[in-house]
Amino acid sequence: MHKIAIHLMQVRNRIDSAAASCGRSVDSVQLLAVSKTRPPADIRAAYAAGQHRFGENYLQEALDKQQQLADLDIEWHFIGPLQANKTRPVAEHFAWVHSVDREKIARRLSAQRPASLPPLNICLQVNLDSEASKAGVSLAELPELLDSVAELPNIRTRGLMAIPAPRTDFEHQREALEPLATALLRLRASHPALDTLSMGMSADLEAAVAAGSTMVRIGTDIFGRRD
Ligand SMILES: *Cc1c(COP(=O)(O)O)cnc(C)c1O
Repeated sequence: MHKIAIHLMQVRNRIDSAAASCGRSVDSVQLLAVSKTRPPADIRAAYAAGQHRFGENYLQEALDKQQQLADLDIEWHFIGPLQANKTRPVAEHFAWVHSVDREKIARRLSAQRPASLPPLNICLQVNLDSEASKAGVSLAELPELLDSVAELPNIRTRGLMAIPAPRTDFEHQREALEPLATALLRLRASHPALDTLSMGMSADLEAAVAAGSTMVRIGTDIFGRRD
């Protein structure tokens, strides 16, 4: 068995037991394999092991890989920082964008989404720890951003995404993520279609599932450490 297939199985088992231990159904948590910096061969190995949803951070790298993997039926997610002058290829070549943090980006993605494709799924990225180095809207500004993007015709706002500052133990990790889950619950009162909490990486997968994640984004524990 390929080592990526073994790692994938281990990650799926971690998701299943994390879900079971807090009474959630195992299919309520989706796995996004984060393949940034990894060669197409690694993506092929994961695909052959049943993983069809991949996340990429760097636009040019992602477009190159999409070309080389055009024979596979991959659902591509853009999860990296997104500049306004780079939105068109993202609107044209991805199914999801997790890193929308301002109205201008959402407007451009909607305007540039080809009519031949279904609406682009987006998550609003929230800067939970107010870190200057990270993108994301504040929790305070989130409702206004959501209202301003919710009616855009060619995007479908699915939920929230966050990358909290690293914490080493389960309880602190869970506490750090809970405000995102609480925010989603509140926003659902006025936006019932919201169904996605994109949170949880290799180091805090279990805490993210406990806090209500519906999509964990896992790179290192599937593909190995990045250089
Ligand atoms: C790299 C990355 C991940 C994956 O992180 P790992 O710790 O390697 O699992 C998840 N989300 C985002 C936004 C990333 O940039």
